[in-house]
Amino acid sequence: MKVLIVGAGFTGAVIARELANNGHVCHIIDQRDHIAGNCYTQRDKDTNIMEHIYGPHIFHTSDEEVWEYINNFGEFYPYINRVKTTYNGEVYSLPINLHTINQFYKKSFSPSQAKKWIEQIADNKIEEPKNFEEQALKFIGKDLYEAFFKGYTKKQWGCDPKKLPASILKRLPVRFNYDDNYFSHKYQGIPKDGYTSIIEKILEHENIKVQINTSFYKDMIKDYDHIVWTGKLDEWFDYSEGHLGYRTLDFIKYTEEGDYQGTAVMNYGNEKVPYTRISEHKYFTPWEKHEKTIYFKEYSRECGVDDIPYYPIRLVDDKTILEKYLQKAEREKNVTFAGRLGTYSYMDMDVTIKEALTLSKNILKKLDRI
Ligand code: UDP
Repeated sequence: MKVLIVGAGFTGAVIARELANNGHVCHIIDQRDHIAGNCYTQRDKDTNIMEHIYGPHIFHTSDEEVWEYINNFGEFYPYINRVKTTYNGEVYSLPINLHTINQFYKKSFSPSQAKKWIEQIADNKIEEPKNFEEQALKFIGKDLYEAFFKGYTKKQWGCDPKKLPASILKRLPVRFNYDDNYFSHKYQGIPKDGYTSIIEKILEHENIKVQINTSFYKDMIKDYDHIVWTGKLDEWFDYSEGHLGYRTLDFIKYTEEGDYQGTAVMNYGNEKVPYTRISEHKYFTPWEKHEKTIYFKEYSRECGVDDIPYYPIRLVDDKTILEKYLQKAEREKNVTFAGRLGTYSYMDMDVTIKEALTLSKNILKKLDRI
């Protein structure tokens, strides 16, 4: 069968590969001038540092199938994401751990003392947190919430944390020990040759044809047995039910001699600092040596129709609109909606790959029935 896949990020590439392995002919197009979507990496011309063009990506998973799958397409070097945050001129460790708590409250608590302390200051009246702010108040209390989450989250999402789902905060752990690994997954790493090379290898198959700089037009549909759409869900339906909200990011790049901040990611909790974080990319490849450095100030703002969408916001209004699009999507029998944008969900790379593998099985069954 002939399948058109729109979007050459992780989702599109994995689905193309799975269908191609099963004898189907896949044509994958992307409107940008490169593959790999927002995971795109390339070496900076001036410094040769591996640059994550659309912001830092650290691969982490506890899923054996996904880890095995991705390792077929490139070598991963071990990398532990350790994030720092600056608040009122002091640097703290994230995610909130015993070091953060002791430094913030000028204490030297043991794990059990810290736990007791946090239980006392947390808001115990909240039983079922209904939003991001309630979730934070219940788990860490007002002081830590206001220092590390309130301002950052306002900048990142452009709205009051009371309007955001509690699930966003549930991404981050609170630890009563000195473990400052940002993630809790079994496997964590960064590809030695960057993500573009991984996706290139996934797409390297005689049944896959890749075309970049190519936009999708509805009259392409007639030439294919099935379409996989990894673009924005609302865009497929020409925004007929309204626009789903996304955040986009702007990165301001700086190049300097030596070292800028001594770590890969520094967050900024104060609302009045206009950027959310600064990432210094040579720290994502600690096995390489570089005399110069590149770093990026990251600014978040509302995503316009022509901007690159990064994060689905998923406020109450968005969810109402999403329901309508999902019903419409259900009726499109020859189209599969996939990925962060195609399903309007906040997925990490490993979940994206897992979902793409599952969807591929469904598509294969569908193609068998045609
Ligand atoms: N967050 C925060 N302060 C921080 C880091 C994260 O308030 O210093 C909040 C913010 O709302 C963010 C969410 O926690 O969107 C999830 O953080 P994560 O690091 O998982 O976000 P991502 O790396 O996907 O942008």
